[in-house]
Amino acid sequence: MFHVKHSNDTAPLTIHRVRSMLVAAGIGVSDLQVEALTRHGNSVLLANNTINLTAVIEPEDFVRLHIIDSLLPLGMVEKALGAALDMGTGAGYPGIPWAIGGVSMVLCEATKKKAALLEQWAQEIPVKAEVVSMRAEEYAQVARGRFDTVVARAVSALPSLLELSSPLLRVGGRLVAMKGNPSVDEIAHAEHAAGVLGMSATGMMEYALPGGGEKRTLCVYEKVEEPSIRLPRRSGLAQRRPFGG
Ligand code: SAM
Repeated sequence: MFHVKHSNDTAPLTIHRVRSMLVAAGIGVSDLQVEALTRHGNSVLLANNTINLTAVIEPEDFVRLHIIDSLLPLGMVEKALGAALDMGTGAGYPGIPWAIGGVSMVLCEATKKKAALLEQWAQEIPVKAEVVSMRAEEYAQVARGRFDTVVARAVSALPSLLELSSPLLRVGGRLVAMKGNPSVDEIAHAEHAAGVLGMSATGMMEYALPGGGEKRTLCVYEKVEEPSIRLPRRSGLAQRRPFGG
């Protein structure tokens, strides 16, 4: 396997490259924010040598598929995001770029090793973001109704995301699911699940990533009422046996 080895002088992502790609994508960021996004990206690539975080290691692809992909939805969602949770944040996408962009973020990650890295990176970057090292179902037991926004990228199918996010959201809060190209079946199953979970679809925005043209869909659901069933169910069930199928 190709390994990324670098000191700060030979890091694969340069501030110049990240800034010029963000500008070309129409994303406005300050110098400090570009530096922070670059530092995080290089930390991910370095850690990727020892823990499997991403298959994307070519610098331009990395900037497009992780950094730009994370930041584009920020310009697409209406209303303030308020207190936001990145559910299944992995190496911190989209949560760390959102935090660097000024969103009040909690990063929830089930894998302990990844959560430990996120803690370290949040201090090193530095960026203000709370890291929660547990499954979303466990966190929902102690953070019920705490969030205005739950975002998830590349975590699970929509019905599972709806179930995991519902207890964490306040009524009126939103799930922002960052999807590739969800199937008609996935959307229909989500529609069925949403009814039981107190959620309702408010927007499906299709767009393409600048540079590569990869298809993306931002699926937004609002929590309109408390669910008709008791949530969270036992850990793992939302993803193994989702409602709506
Ligand atoms: N969101 C990141 C991204 O787009 O790069 C990571 C995507 S990775 C494919 C999915 C992550 O979600 C993994 O790190 C996994 O440990 C985490 N995850 C899956 N189910 C979870 C759950 N129920 N609660 C918290 N984290 C979860």
